[in-house]
Amino acid sequence: MERMKELVALLNKYAYEYYVLDNPTVSDKEYDVLYDELALLEKQTGVVLPDSPTLKVGGDPIKKFVEHKHINRLYSLDKCKTFDELIEWDDKLKKLFGGKIEYTLEYKLDGLTLCLTYENGNLAVASTRGNGTVGEDVTEQVKTIKSVPLSIPYKGLVEVQGEGIMRVSALNAYNKGAKEPLKNARNGVAGAIRNLDPKVTASRNLDVIFYNVNFTDEEILTQQKMIEFLQENRFKTEKLLVTSDINSIIEEIKGVNRDKLDFVIDGMVIKVNDIAVREVLGYTDKFPRWAIAYKFEAEETTTKLTDVIWQVGRTGKITPIACLEPVELCGAIVKRATLNNFGDIQRKGVKIGSRVFIRRSNDVIPEVLGVAEALGGKAVEQPTVCPACGSRLSENGANLFCTNEYGCKPQIRQKLVHFCEKDCMDIEGLSEKTIDLLYDKIGLNSFEGLYALKSSDFVGIEGFKDKKISNLITAIDKSKNADLAHFINALGIPNVGKKLASDLAKRYGSIVELMHATEDDLMQNPDMGPVTAECITDYFAKHYRTIESLINIGINPHYQGANEGGIFSGQKVVLTGTLANYKRSEAASIIEKSGGEVQSSVTAATTIVIAGENAGSKLDKARKNGIKIMDENEFIALINA
Ligand code: NAD
Repeated sequence: MERMKELVALLNKYAYEYYVLDNPTVSDKEYDVLYDELALLEKQTGVVLPDSPTLKVGGDPIKKFVEHKHINRLYSLDKCKTFDELIEWDDKLKKLFGGKIEYTLEYKLDGLTLCLTYENGNLAVASTRGNGTVGEDVTEQVKTIKSVPLSIPYKGLVEVQGEGIMRVSALNAYNKGAKEPLKNARNGVAGAIRNLDPKVTASRNLDVIFYNVNFTDEEILTQQKMIEFLQENRFKTEKLLVTSDINSIIEEIKGVNRDKLDFVIDGMVIKVNDIAVREVLGYTDKFPRWAIAYKFEAEETTTKLTDVIWQVGRTGKITPIACLEPVELCGAIVKRATLNNFGDIQRKGVKIGSRVFIRRSNDVIPEVLGVAEALGGKAVEQPTVCPACGSRLSENGANLFCTNEYGCKPQIRQKLVHFCEKDCMDIEGLSEKTIDLLYDKIGLNSFEGLYALKSSDFVGIEGFKDKKISNLITAIDKSKNADLAHFINALGIPNVGKKLASDLAKRYGSIVELMHATEDDLMQNPDMGPVTAECITDYFAKHYRTIESLINIGINPHYQGANEGGIFSGQKVVLTGTLANYKRSEAASIIEKSGGEVQSSVTAATTIVIAGENAGSKLDKARKNGIKIMDENEFIALINA
């Protein structure tokens, strides 16, 4: 009982900070753990305290806004975290209803519920969900959102519900110039709408995506028809899947790639499609029995910042790294996170010792979003000299750089490691440790230096016997034949990655041509902005002697055009599943060399999908869209034909 009281008090405090102040001090993940603990205790004891958050939807409206009573009550959503729970829910519903049920699947958008009332075709009131019965009148704020129609073709009384969101691109653009960056997209939208000044709302570039008709005199029989009604009335909606098969829903959920969307979702919502069936199933105090949210693993949590260290990158850029009290996030233990630059630390108000929000998404390094609780932390100091070599630092825009290009060990090490990578000069056998040892022993500090290595340089270096040395020297020599795209990539020009290197190779045909390209000419490439163009011209202005030396050594790569007559010529190919005989990168290289283009996902342009073992949603999508599918044996037969 004591623990239940404690949890109720704590959760109500957090809910107040989240719903009323729009300034949470814990992540949703941490809130949900405590909420689940309380819900379990309530189930075990049969006792529910009168102010328990399990009885309530959201937070009460705040006084600074005029209250608005919704025509029909708005609810929260029941949640599950595993597919087993989802299957159980489907079974339960089928039993309750006594037959097969059709479902819809939608994104669970992470923003702020908005409820809009239209009368005679005009927007009359926009309000927040509030406690489900009464919300806050935010009409003036919502009117500033460009995608919200001020008038619609339907002339009857209608209340529609959607999620106010801040797109990831809008959040990033806002944070770039903001004095005080927003912690996340949800806070961005909640703070902008529940703000008395509509100009603030307008400045955040918000959007609303609609998913529900909460009240209308029109007879709408299904969720699918509801979405159609919304579309006909010019509301933005998102994609919808309709199926009676819970396994198809699970497969579809598995195929969702959150990182590819320009808005944040924290799960998927499964709803009974047929409104008549919904009426049979009904509601609990807090949510409809006919819908459930499948929650994804949280990508945000809070933890303590124990220190900030400064690291030197390949280009000499000095980056602050946050050292964190280890915390579990998306199945991994996070100990470090990025803080971008000193300005970023200051704007976020991050101090050593404070509790901070961190975010981790699939292929991105975890990032510190902002402060959860200051806890009287110690200010982070800006370095004045390079943490690795002690040289003076130069400032370029928001970043600090070590300019000691040929005498700063971590810089040299990373530059050479990159130079040797498979997508670059493809030199095998040179580890970071060996590069460090060669730097100490013979002063290896440049690309040219690599080509001057002799057997005697390796004497005394552990693990280097005759055979290994000769293999390495052969590999270095062989790399002189690298093609132009790989060579450009190997140089490590700031902002130029593998794809751009390949585009530049195709456009300029030789390194000498590229070296002479002007910024204007470089910007003819549709993917190139002025910053990257400047990086390229700066690089060649500074390093023309390096390139000259490399050419003198015998490296002068030219573009080896795509194999026009190759077996994959003109084909756009997607690889999925596990191949028994090839690594994915090997298969991709074969396809590219045979004139094909390898894509990362199935699109309308895809012509072939090569499916190995355990292929998943990409294969399904190919089947659905009638795209040619090849198994590994067919692939092998084709390339050997
Ligand atoms: P919820 O936000 O998890 O789910 C219900 C809401 O989902 C709806 O009101 C609607 O706004 C939204 N939604 C998005 N897409 C939808 C769709 N396609 N169809 C229907 N609805 C859709 O539930 P809630 O009750 O609003 O909030 C509870 C959650 O809020 C908790 O699980 C917790 O994660 C978070 N919370 C966090 C804190 C904190 O301090 N960090 C405090 C309180 C609550």
